[in-house]
Amino acid sequence: MNEILILGGGASGMAAALRAAEHGTVTLLERQPRLGRKLLATGNGRCNLTNVGAAPENYHGASADFVKPALTAYPPTAVLDFFRSLGLRTVEEYGGRVYPASDHAGSVLDVLRLELERRGVRVLCGAGAEALRRDGRGFAVLCGGETYRAGRVIVACGGCAGGKLGGVTDGYRLLQALGHQRTALHPALVPLRCDSADPKALKGVRVTAKATVFRGDAPLQSETGDVLFTDTGLSGTAIFSLSRCAAVGGAGLSVSLDLFPEDAEDAIYEDLKQRRARFMARPANELLVGALHGRVGLILCRAAGLSGGATAETLTDAQLRRLARLAKDYRFPISGVGGFDAAQVTAGGMDTREFDPNTLQSRLVPDLYACGEVLDVDGDCGGYNLQWAWASGLLAGELR
Ligand SMILES: Cc1cc2nc3c(=O)[nH]c(=O)nc-3n(C[C@H](O)[C@H](O)[C@H](O)COP(=O)(O)OP(=O)(O)OC[C@H]3O[C@@H](n4cnc5c(N)ncnc54)[C@H](O)[C@@H]3O)c2cc1C
Repeated sequence: MNEILILGGGASGMAAALRAAEHGTVTLLERQPRLGRKLLATGNGRCNLTNVGAAPENYHGASADFVKPALTAYPPTAVLDFFRSLGLRTVEEYGGRVYPASDHAGSVLDVLRLELERRGVRVLCGAGAEALRRDGRGFAVLCGGETYRAGRVIVACGGCAGGKLGGVTDGYRLLQALGHQRTALHPALVPLRCDSADPKALKGVRVTAKATVFRGDAPLQSETGDVLFTDTGLSGTAIFSLSRCAAVGGAGLSVSLDLFPEDAEDAIYEDLKQRRARFMARPANELLVGALHGRVGLILCRAAGLSGGATAETLTDAQLRRLARLAKDYRFPISGVGGFDAAQVTAGGMDTREFDPNTLQSRLVPDLYACGEVLDVDGDCGGYNLQWAWASGLLAGELR
């Protein structure tokens, strides 16, 4: 039977469908009313579609080597060639992150959608696979009262992160029904919850900082990048990168923000002394105006005990030293990490020992394949997860 069914029309499912179309008649079942809903939300709507530096070290899961064959067959250069062939123009930004030149995730989805159409892939939206079972030498998929039959099936249902964007546990359930095992699931690339009033007061403000997770005075992991203050704590790409460390690190952790990652504390202290001399008549809590985001400067001065009632000229060297120290080590106790709804990716998934890494075919059920986040693979923040989705989707779509 040359019928091929792809379950899931997200990043990996669309990539798999395009490659599989070279081998037979492809039907793509997507549970939501449209393809690629999560893809549209990636990279804050800009879609950080890959990272030119993606390497096996950027991936996590029970089996560290599992990603190697897919990344070797479809490294970021091959993924970019694939998208170029679909007509997508891309730009590389800091840290090797690649975005569509249009700055719009919709462009990535559009080129995939049009190519699916051009290749004659039958796309059925609002079609959630309810059950997957063996049917003679092939498979039967139950969906909305219909039964779809195929000789080969690729499960690309994603993980349960980003529930509001369609993250569900269907893929795990469908594969478990055919005898596959799942590892424990944890939210990853997720905001940190902090027991402090300051993040809430700064809600919505984004800064570039070096963020470090500490246990007591021992630094565990650092990341420099985007930090967003939220109602409940801290978010942003630098924080996402630390969230795995915070999730598994246990109790007694804190996160420290270095708001001037390029400058030593002494240099900041000297700058503050010059500001005191130059802006003598300014309210003391406006000393950092022009050096930091206005609200961050004000809150930091308050945290350092500088009152708006006094003028800058009244500040002592000890107060300036305290402010400089705080600017380099603005610390919040971590009370936990966000849940699956707030997470970008699921850590854990289908046990990769039960899939051949060279083909992504099941070792238990011939002609069954899986790709993307449904497998126990999660990547770092910065385009690595979509890189895995494309690479694994294209590899599974080879149907070897
Ligand atoms: C807010 C947010 C921002 C992100 N930003 C980035 C980023 O910039 N860069 C990056 O690399 N990664 C990013 N990620 C992670 C990335 O989006 C995922 O890792 C990637 O989409 C996984 O691809 P996938 O195909 O495995 O799953 P998905 O893209 O989630 O696709 C799975 C699809 O399967 C469908 N489905 C589920 N169950 C069924 C069923 N029973 N029948 C039929 N269809 C079904 C779902 O509706 C979904 O469309 C982000 C994630 C989120 C939540």
